[in-house]
Amino acid sequence: MILTDIHSNWEALEAVAAAADGAYDEAICLGDVVGYGAAPREAVTWTRNNCRLVVRGNHDKAVCGLDAMEDFNIVAQAAVAWTRTQLSSEEILWLAGLDPGPLSHGEAEFAHGSPIDEDEYLVAAGDAEMVFENYDRPLCFVGHSHLQGGFCLAGGRVLRLPRPHAHQPEVLLPLEPDVCYLVNPGSVGQPRDGDPRAAYAIWDDEERQIRFRRVAYDTQRAARRILDAGLPPMLADRLAVGR
Ligand code: ZN
Repeated sequence: MILTDIHSNWEALEAVAAAADGAYDEAICLGDVVGYGAAPREAVTWTRNNCRLVVRGNHDKAVCGLDAMEDFNIVAQAAVAWTRTQLSSEEILWLAGLDPGPLSHGEAEFAHGSPIDEDEYLVAAGDAEMVFENYDRPLCFVGHSHLQGGFCLAGGRVLRLPRPHAHQPEVLLPLEPDVCYLVNPGSVGQPRDGDPRAAYAIWDDEERQIRFRRVAYDTQRAARRILDAGLPPMLADRLAVGR
């Protein structure tokens, strides 16, 4: 199972863990365990106990002081400051010790933003094209954009990968030979593709296929905890719309 951008959303993470139970051998996290949401301790504890590999994200870096937060808006900065007050020094040290991507495991690599730059957003096909020009591994998993799917390079053309439609639980992507992939499992805790369901992916390295999955969770409960914590209300409001 590949998951990313959990962002301290325990309700979403719990739903993903339950839905994926029995469907995977190992979990790999592409970063941003914390930030935005109201459950940083639960997110850190689950990730430490369940993930074989964890790549660091920009919010993980910010919480432990390794990111100057130049790209952070005022809402993100407020969440970082609040998160610091919630974690033990030992948990902050764990975040500080996370490795930058890309990390290698089997056929694939794993990065937060892109395999070239850990803080880069891959949103448009042109962004992916620049990476494919400078990177020749067949498969890299990325997060950071909170957009499920990603891109492939097939016959010299960059194509967008599919994601489940609303109400569809999953989409199957068979990995073709001679095609390069930048695969985004989508965000667990703060999807931004208009689908409020938590996103993740199951990678079967033997069958060479990826299942992009979505699972509904209690967005109202996660939003209520954000408001109760005194975090900026927009962080609560966006969960119900997935933007
Ligand atoms: Zn993120």
